[in-house]
Amino acid sequence: MRIAVIGAGAVGSLIARELCRYEAEVVLFERAPDVGWGVTKANSGIVHAGFHDEPGTTRARFCAAGNALYPELATDLEIPFRRTGAYVLAFTTEELSVLEELREWGEVNGVPGLELHRREEILAREPRVNPEVRAGLWSPTVGITLPWEIAIAAVENALDNGLELHLGEPVVGIEVSGGRVRAVRTDKGRYPVEAVVNAAGLFADHIAQMAGLEGPALHPRRGEYVLLDETTGGLVNVVLFPAPTQVSKGILVLPTVDGGLLLGPNAHDLPPDAREATETTREGLEEVIEGAVHLVPDLPLHKTVKTFAGLRPESPQKDFVLGETEVAGFYQAAAMRSPGLTAAPAIARWLAHEIALAHGLEERTDFRPVRKRIPHPADLPEAEWEALIRKDPRWGRIVCFCNRVTEGEIVEAIRRGARTLDGVKFRTRAGFGRCQGGFCTDRILEILARELGAEPWEVTARGGASRIVLGEARP
Ligand SMILES: Cc1cc2nc3c(=O)[nH]c(=O)nc-3n(C[C@H](O)[C@H](O)[C@H](O)COP(=O)(O)OP(=O)(O)OC[C@H]3O[C@@H](n4cnc5c(N)ncnc54)[C@H](O)[C@@H]3O)c2cc1C
Repeated sequence: MRIAVIGAGAVGSLIARELCRYEAEVVLFERAPDVGWGVTKANSGIVHAGFHDEPGTTRARFCAAGNALYPELATDLEIPFRRTGAYVLAFTTEELSVLEELREWGEVNGVPGLELHRREEILAREPRVNPEVRAGLWSPTVGITLPWEIAIAAVENALDNGLELHLGEPVVGIEVSGGRVRAVRTDKGRYPVEAVVNAAGLFADHIAQMAGLEGPALHPRRGEYVLLDETTGGLVNVVLFPAPTQVSKGILVLPTVDGGLLLGPNAHDLPPDAREATETTREGLEEVIEGAVHLVPDLPLHKTVKTFAGLRPESPQKDFVLGETEVAGFYQAAAMRSPGLTAAPAIARWLAHEIALAHGLEERTDFRPVRKRIPHPADLPEAEWEALIRKDPRWGRIVCFCNRVTEGEIVEAIRRGARTLDGVKFRTRAGFGRCQGGFCTDRILEILARELGAEPWEVTARGGASRIVLGEARP
């Protein structure tokens, strides 16, 4: 049986990997030139505990369950994951009652370890928190991860288990007859399939329409961020949330797995056709800074290395749309707003199981769950780094000085599928440091061109027309 998964974000990639546990031919279609470049690329990277979601919602059902799967996922796929814990901070009497409500929600949703802490306890743990804080809801199971690495790792592991991956190949049509899915059409061909999983992120409503289904009607909700460099990470050690509003979880301050601090996101609804509008705005960034400074007044804002924005796929029902539809064989993993990243492992496992049951698929006995990360010599003991250099001197040549990324890592990233500067950056962190590629872009470009047998001006930042150099100045 052949199953198509549409969309290689965290959700689709994990679903494709889970489907590879069964006796099925799994095909993953992604319109972008690489995996994890949609909503998965720009978000807070928090593995939520599950207390923010109203009991009874699908979000609540899968959030705590997804959180519980993260240690296994992180071990199997070698993705960064750290349970930092989190505080939701209350500054007013109304916010104190919000904390009570969140604690009740969390308890109903099966979130372990929730405790209300007083001001003194919070300041003892996190001395930089605004001293006007009155109380905080402590949640020890909240964690942080590297969102795009989930998609990269899941796809690498799925490929190792037989996945067929089609990058840069948008799905343009879905053939349905007799109430059942028959085939997927892309810009390159027609693929007969018995089942389709719609994990197309911000475009999941377009894919559903191709199968003749209504909705979920999606529109983007932009969230802007400010990233501070890796010298700031130790200033705050847990995720700090304000009391949430009706619209969002609010503007946060949190450590990143790379050792920096992330501030944001705000939340602004955009029209349905603005699904690529990831630019930041002056007012938006001011709002982010104001929100962050409310939680931690003395943030070293001069250590900003980057600002960016992500788009949430919002739907009127404010909830995930999951499972089989009235079109037999057409499954949804749509409207994946927050906490979609957290819920993704649990959704993937559940949905793959549902599909296997419905189509009588046997579990494979030869599934290999483990994927190894590209080694980062700077994190290794000296003897191990030296051993790598003895095998191949490129592991000793530093290309990105900010993050101490070697040529060996870049070559390995290309071997694993990186074809662009962003492909290398997201797999190795080369170009992700304080200088944001200012000193290493030309070297990475040369290595990409050499390894791909291309001219430097054929290499792009992120596919399409995003070329870095145009040609030889003096041929
Ligand atoms: C500002 C912000 C903050 C967030 N913070 C958190 C958080 O801290 N914790 C958390 O759990 N969640 C968070 N989320 C939510 C989380 O990021 C998403 O739920 C998750 O990344 C969605 O993944 P996805 O795979 O569904 O979508 P995507 O990553 O968008 O993947 C869908 C893919 O489908 C592809 N595609 C689209 N159309 C087609 C087509 N026609 N053919 C082929 N491919 C197609 C796209 O190119 C894309 O790569 C946040 C989201 C935002 C925007």
